Amino acid sequence: MGALQNYINGTWVASKERQAIDVINPASQEVLAKVPFGKNTTSDIHSAVSSASEAFMQWRDIPVMSRVQPLYKLKKLLEGATDELARLITLECGKSYAESKGEIQRAIENVETACAAPLLMQSEFSENVAVGLDEFMIRQPIGVCACITPFNFPGMIPFWFLPYAIACGNSFIIKPSEKVPLAMMKVIEMIDQLDLPKGLINLVHGGKHSVDALLDHPDVKAISFVGSTNVARYIYQRGSSSGKRVQAQGGAKNPVIVMPDSDIEMTARIIADSVYGCAGQRCLAASNIVNVADQKGLVKDALVEAAKSKTTGFGLDEGIEMGPVITPESKERIENLIKKGIREGADLLLDGRNARISGYERGNFIKPTILENVALDGELINTEIFGPVMSLINMDSIDNAIDFVNRNAYGNMACIFTSSGLNARTFRNKAKAGNIGINIGVAAPLAQFPFSGWDESFFGDLHGQGRHAIEFFTQTKVVVERWPKEWARKF
Ligand code: NAD
Repeated sequence: MGALQNYINGTWVASKERQAIDVINPASQEVLAKVPFGKNTTSDIHSAVSSASEAFMQWRDIPVMSRVQPLYKLKKLLEGATDELARLITLECGKSYAESKGEIQRAIENVETACAAPLLMQSEFSENVAVGLDEFMIRQPIGVCACITPFNFPGMIPFWFLPYAIACGNSFIIKPSEKVPLAMMKVIEMIDQLDLPKGLINLVHGGKHSVDALLDHPDVKAISFVGSTNVARYIYQRGSSSGKRVQAQGGAKNPVIVMPDSDIEMTARIIADSVYGCAGQRCLAASNIVNVADQKGLVKDALVEAAKSKTTGFGLDEGIEMGPVITPESKERIENLIKKGIREGADLLLDGRNARISGYERGNFIKPTILENVALDGELINTEIFGPVMSLINMDSIDNAIDFVNRNAYGNMACIFTSSGLNARTFRNKAKAGNIGINIGVAAPLAQFPFSGWDESFFGDLHGQGRHAIEFFTQTKVVVERWPKEWARKF
């Protein structure tokens, strides 16, 4: 099996790197492909930056109305290939087919929003700021931009950046996760059909060597990153110290408060979808559930029932709601965290370890797991698990619950379930997180809104998607203009 090729300067080319690692179906351990991985991917990045730099000089002068036309075509191509893309995502990433289709829908919504660039890029003009003097601001593209993306949404996350960067007049390099490179390669086959300058959009494989080459290259002007917090912090520091603008979205540990006035059945179902969807491998997965004043344990019982009802298996099989986690190492790490939680004093209400899925005995499966009375200062409650594990915490008041939410080092998402407008309003106002859900389990912003992580979940100023993306991918230029009457008389 030959290694996957890069897409540079409008052509598929072999990597300069001879070493490659396996891309593996996490449900079966079948090797799907081999991806270049090693220090020579640095020269692949250099080639991509050089062709993206040339393409930029051409593309920046194309009117924005014309720049968005290929995106309309890309939307149609993505719609036509949704089933094929969803299948690929399930194969390489493990999530259920329905979840993979939902992911592509979100990607398409970002293409649609970026098509509004002619309006979104419009700026401000003030006439007569002083006598005979006008002042205005224009938005110009910044040059070669790049994104580095994680394994959990291979078909969607590059679209938080790519369509906006292109619509704004930049050129682009994608460095997909080495664990799941296939979905974006399929997307590049569609991009190859568009009428774009060669080198405008490039895809280069690899890991840290490719990333560092992007971070250090003087001609790369902006880096968009999504992944774990430690890597996000590193990307932000190294990229910004070499003068680039950087947006780096990191990990999460999302708390959800359940008030006793919520609808118990519906709340439990929505929370179980949030905790166990994508096998818990979502940066917006609910993780710590704070159950307020539930003396009879009604919410607890409903959550256990909702969790038990989830069907785990290979994502392309009929009726499967939850797939495997990404690697055997992830599975081991998650199972160790469960053990740690028990050692820290938690009660195991539902144990998803030792899951056996008939026909997929080698898959990285963990079934839904619930621990109650988890130590508040322990590792389980403060670590991003990124697996199908719920920690249940009992508290006596909304104030204590909000204090708990606000002690979280991350700030990606916080949610509340309640039928009280006052509780909801207090929570919305006080909770320290950038994405808030009120009676919502996965508060994922639509493409028009920024994906607004805070604290350890985000390093930078402007987030992905919507207007933030337009601002990130443009630099402002302010023009102060005067046309003296005296000159008009002279000539
Ligand atoms: P990861 O940090 O391991 O990898 C992300 C990317 O960084 C990959 O492309 C990888 O090749 C590269 N990379 C990995 N280690 C590196 C290093 N030392 N130096 C330079 N580059 C490196 O993340 P992952 O495991 O693929 O994804 C899961 C993480 O992503 C979770 O923490 C999750 O919360 C987070 N995530 C966050 C968001 C968000 O919007 N905040 C969205 C999705 C996922």
